[in-house]
Amino acid sequence: MQSEQFVDRHSGICPNDMSKMLKTIGVNSLDELIGQTIPADIRLPKKLQLPAPMSEHEYADHIHDLSLKNQLFANYIGMGYYDTVTPAVIWRNVFENPVWYTSYTPYQAEISQGRLEALLNFQTVITELTALPLANASLLDEATAAAEAMTLFHNTRTRAQQQAGVNTLLVDKNVWPQTLSVLKTRSVPQGIQLLVTDFATFDFSVPVFGTILQYPDSNGEVRDYTQFVEKAHENGCKVAVAADLMALTLLTPPGEWGADVAFGTTQRFGIPMGYGGPSAAYMATRDEFKRDIPGRIIGISKDVHGKPAYRLALQTREQHIKRERATSNICTAQALLATMASFYAVYHGPDGLKNIAERIHTYAMQLSAQLGMFGFNNLNSTYFDTLKIELSKGVSVETIKEKAQQRKINFRYFVSGEIGISLDETTTETKLKSIIALFAEVVGKQHEQALPTVNNDVIPTNLQRVSAYLQQSVFSNYRSETDLMRYIKKLERRDISLAHSMISLGSCTMKLNAASEMLPLSSPHWGAMHPFAPTEQAEGYHLLFEGLKSYLAEITGLPAVTLQPNSGAAGEYTGLITIRNYFIDKGETQRNVVLIPASAHGTNPASAAQAGFKVVVTACDENGNVDVADLKAKAEQNKDVLAALMITYPSTHGVFEVAIHEICDIIHSNGGQVYMDGANMNAQVGLTSPAFVGADVCHLNLHKTFAIPHGGGGPGVGPICVAEHLAKYLPQHPAIDENAQYTAVAASPYGSASVLPISYGYIRMLGAEGLTQATEVAILNANYLAEKLKDTYGIVYTGATGRVGHEMILECRHFKGSAGITETDIAKRLMDFGFHAPTLSFPVHGTLMVEPTESESWAELDRFVEAMLAIYNEIKEIESGTADKTDNVLLNAPHCEFEIAADEWSHPYSRTKAAYPLEWVKDNKFWLQVGRIDNAFGDRNLTCSCQC
Ligand SMILES: *Cc1c(COP(=O)(O)O)cnc(C)c1O
Repeated sequence: MQSEQFVDRHSGICPNDMSKMLKTIGVNSLDELIGQTIPADIRLPKKLQLPAPMSEHEYADHIHDLSLKNQLFANYIGMGYYDTVTPAVIWRNVFENPVWYTSYTPYQAEISQGRLEALLNFQTVITELTALPLANASLLDEATAAAEAMTLFHNTRTRAQQQAGVNTLLVDKNVWPQTLSVLKTRSVPQGIQLLVTDFATFDFSVPVFGTILQYPDSNGEVRDYTQFVEKAHENGCKVAVAADLMALTLLTPPGEWGADVAFGTTQRFGIPMGYGGPSAAYMATRDEFKRDIPGRIIGISKDVHGKPAYRLALQTREQHIKRERATSNICTAQALLATMASFYAVYHGPDGLKNIAERIHTYAMQLSAQLGMFGFNNLNSTYFDTLKIELSKGVSVETIKEKAQQRKINFRYFVSGEIGISLDETTTETKLKSIIALFAEVVGKQHEQALPTVNNDVIPTNLQRVSAYLQQSVFSNYRSETDLMRYIKKLERRDISLAHSMISLGSCTMKLNAASEMLPLSSPHWGAMHPFAPTEQAEGYHLLFEGLKSYLAEITGLPAVTLQPNSGAAGEYTGLITIRNYFIDKGETQRNVVLIPASAHGTNPASAAQAGFKVVVTACDENGNVDVADLKAKAEQNKDVLAALMITYPSTHGVFEVAIHEICDIIHSNGGQVYMDGANMNAQVGLTSPAFVGADVCHLNLHKTFAIPHGGGGPGVGPICVAEHLAKYLPQHPAIDENAQYTAVAASPYGSASVLPISYGYIRMLGAEGLTQATEVAILNANYLAEKLKDTYGIVYTGATGRVGHEMILECRHFKGSAGITETDIAKRLMDFGFHAPTLSFPVHGTLMVEPTESESWAELDRFVEAMLAIYNEIKEIESGTADKTDNVLLNAPHCEFEIAADEWSHPYSRTKAAYPLEWVKDNKFWLQVGRIDNAFGDRNLTCSCQC
């Protein structure tokens, strides 16, 4: 007997249902449907070569064995990554809870109030600790946040600075090497020069538009920047500082010494290091920059009943509107990790956080004192948690390394010979004594059992924080586990996730995130690994990387892979930078034009601009396909300067364009490279591939196609796969190779390493056939929905044979004229049925884009169809005059709980019609906390942190 196959759990469609669905569609077999969907000339000639599929049980053993190849050391390396204690109540109720990890970015605010509140708490933590009034939620990592700060300053230069061509950014030499590396990558294409020097000796004789500092700096020293900032401001230079949040509970915050921007990681607020990520970065700034700050901001607005409600503010979808003029390309960020960090702060509150910080700080001073008694000098005089130890004469680094190895301890080893020791929340007296014993042994000395007492704080009074923080009630109300658990559950009940119903967001691929893919992440053998630990300690990770890279190479047909980018958009940027490096190396530096079809996702032009390219938009024809004649004309016009085409396949319109080969040929024959946006890879895996259709580069959204959950807006992983000729131009990382030719695109060498086991597991458990079947069923489900909805709504675009790919666009534009109903009204009304809306107004304004994925069952698809048809009938009632033109179920949707339960009811339709529009809704009603939210009010009255 065969053991249980994972594919049968992953796919929502059983063979019996499949034949009925195929009949509805009007085909005899799945093969026939796929044959009608995907052009024959791009079908892969042979099956994918991947390891045989494992059952879930076999995989659990396999991934456990692999994890044990990662060795757990006590890590004192620091450098932006610290061991931390994730409170178990957060671990169990957030990190391991599918309501939190499978929800989507909270664009549909009414069914996202829980995570919006958690993220608003996050922003409050940031504004309070940095003492700057405005924060976002969130950025990808500290190093890219530094680059975002650079861009923000560059974009907001004064007119005089622009006219004078002030393009230099001052970077203090004591920032993390990974921060500097990413700044290098990002500055060059934008025409920004970096001046890396000691801030203290800089006299502003060279005009600079901004500066990047670090607090405490990369040695661990806490510098007083007050006077420097004054001088900087006098010279028209803005100041951004990477600030350690834990340290800010004790140190004078940047906002109080004049910084314009503070940024950094929130990893040490309860997020495992995970061999580099994911964890959330933050950025805080002054109000003046509220329209320039990248990423998402949660704001407070009100709903139609006047009740306070949260929603994404201002520039939420700004890439879709501003395209290549967008302030950044960030789409997916680090929502789940930001949520967890916010609960960490809620749980500990101001005194709890301060207590943790004081403990770390005191241990650091005690360690410094004790090592001093052994003759080891701490070069840092003012420090929070980090010592920089000069070795006494006669003691070699090798001796320390050897002893540390025996005790399973990792220190930071400076090239200049010093030892860096960064303590953290997990440091205990026992661990501290182990460090002390190690140094005692080296010098052959005895040491006291008790730790030395320290009387004076090494932080001078002017750098000691006196201002209070986190005084809002949320940071003191939930100190017991019972209280926090209930608070988490209260918020959770306000959100729709995959734990409730199908989330049919086109282009987002909200498929199953299987428990067996997620469970391994709870092991410290993945979580507690420091990204800069010696490679030989992380064999499990490296075997996993090599495996995953080879599978992704096989699936895309593109042999070289980097796992570094932390989102799809970061992948786009990385792919374009790789192309840029290639042309520079070939001496074709003039190639600076990227063609992008008008239908492209907003991140495409935003990434192209960030990578220093000029965007030329090409037209789409009336069927939504790339207008080949226009593309050809523009490729030829630009043939001397053409760098690349960015194309999504199947198109963002959900169609496999038959001309794709021809399109790729046109680009190649005009000297350009083909960049494929792989967001729609779920329609390709096993059936065709980017390389097979002619692409040179593609990014994959592992958080779409390869089962990493969306986490309410991140984490994401956006690896890129490239053809052989581009392999040597991929980004590198200073932690792996200090003298690498190419710099990094992310803070850690393997990006969001700790979530990679999810995609690895997805591939290992499905195998070649399962992956292919997943693609086929995704296409089946989409075509089934299209068949069921084509006669009412209508499908905007279909392929040459009338089929759609894995998603489709539903026509909604005519309802505006006939009934005064927009796609937004339909989206909001779906909430009354317990559904999350499909993708709104992308890629075609006035429409809804639906992508069911392979994981949904026939029954769930039918429930969605019934809801859509019921809504269609409600629109017809308005058209025919049966329902009121202004007071109807659609315009008033969603109907929230207290409205339904209120004593007064003034609408011409019944409460039952509002709340239970179909019989089955009664069985599993999702009760909304708020009614429709007023976006304009929120933007006019921007409030981005907790008020009480
Ligand atoms: C999701 C998506 C992106 C952006 O990916 P992120 O991970 O959100 O940065 C780019 N292009 C398309 C077509 C997408 O659907």
